[in-house]
Amino acid sequence: MLDTDQSAVWIKNPLAVYADNSDSGVVISGNKIIELVPLGRLPKADINEVYDASNSVLLPGLINTHHHFYQTLTRAYPEALNKDLFPWLKSLYKVWANIEPEMLAVSTELALSELLLSGCTTASDHHYLFPSQLENAIDIQVEEAQKIGMRVTLTRGSMSLGEKDGGLPPQSVVQTKRDILLDSERLIKKYHNNKEGAMTQIALAPCSPFSVTKDLMIETAGLAQQYDVRLHTHLAETIDEEKFCLEKFGLRTVDYLESVGWLSNKTWLAHGIHFNKQEIQKLGESGVGICHCPSSNMMLASGICHSLELEESGSTIGLGVDGSASNDGSNMIAELRQAMYLQRLRYGASRVTHQKAYDWATKGSAALLGRSDIGEIAIGKQADLALFKLDELRFSGSHDSLAALLLCGAQKADRVMIAGKWKVVDGKIDGQDEAELISRHSNAAIKLRQLANV
Ligand code: ZN
Repeated sequence: MLDTDQSAVWIKNPLAVYADNSDSGVVISGNKIIELVPLGRLPKADINEVYDASNSVLLPGLINTHHHFYQTLTRAYPEALNKDLFPWLKSLYKVWANIEPEMLAVSTELALSELLLSGCTTASDHHYLFPSQLENAIDIQVEEAQKIGMRVTLTRGSMSLGEKDGGLPPQSVVQTKRDILLDSERLIKKYHNNKEGAMTQIALAPCSPFSVTKDLMIETAGLAQQYDVRLHTHLAETIDEEKFCLEKFGLRTVDYLESVGWLSNKTWLAHGIHFNKQEIQKLGESGVGICHCPSSNMMLASGICHSLELEESGSTIGLGVDGSASNDGSNMIAELRQAMYLQRLRYGASRVTHQKAYDWATKGSAALLGRSDIGEIAIGKQADLALFKLDELRFSGSHDSLAALLLCGAQKADRVMIAGKWKVVDGKIDGQDEAELISRHSNAAIKLRQLANV
């Protein structure tokens, strides 16, 4: 039974729940799920508090596995509109080079808030911009995540291959290999928690084949192995990137990844679109995970991920909203709908169900981050939950509530719990002044544009 000093909360009789044997709800104690209550039963635990969920659909907290929080400052940016990836990046690198510490802080706060309000409980960010004024970027992000109380995997990204050496980014945003590796090691030692229920984890994430040197990829893999942290990068996002790899390294993207020692079950890739059959096989056999980013892939016209073939070969698929300059939102529940529909174009409606989209955004995403303690409503898992009410015009007349969340286009969670604590109540983040945040954030975005145009 329960510790006497720990209260138990029964989330009672949800309208629908994405879990087995939980039709009458779940019981939470401390930071964990301690009981699933089957249909028509009462909890066995002594209950101190009941939350009536009879108007809510209950989901495991959604997990976002690829983002660039700072990009919320350059949404719908005029010079970057209507472009494919490489010209889009070239328009924005020189803007991003001007980001100041307080701009990164407020963009992180805003992106996390947006994610949380859309039912996301764990987020990974790929931060790869470290101009001289932003050397403590990850420290800033850790502080913001802790303030809001979200679970995060912050990846120490990097760029080391500037224009003068044949890379895509300008020299002002690249760092030396030595600086990158020293800071990566510092961050792992300072912040990475590998224990069950961890709120903050660090992974290492050189940005992409066209912005980092081969040496850095190899040595980053070594460092990740030494400290048992995960590896992340962008790969096979566009045909431009494939051409770059062939010209610069004489290799296709997956051969390049293999040549730098990254084909491992500790690696997850953002996008993973342009693979042939042999490459899909190789990735699956190695256990490399793929984060599918449907909105970004449509916005930049990059292509459609081979999600089901990758799964059949052994890869795990998770979901990501990608950066807010190529989405241009950070809405996780909306991203599930995008994933379901984009993947239907490739595989047909019957193979890409709403359950499939839920699995990608929960269990699949958790596996990409190497976590077995989140991503599922089951006994012993962390109490990370998202509840959605179907009380908007968009849901009226819907019959299957779990399907309706995606088919009718849910945008906003009513309640969100992380590690047993309510973080969103009645569609609002506890203690947050949303208008004040929007004001601070939009002012930062205006200032960034002014600095970029000087
Ligand atoms: Zn990205």
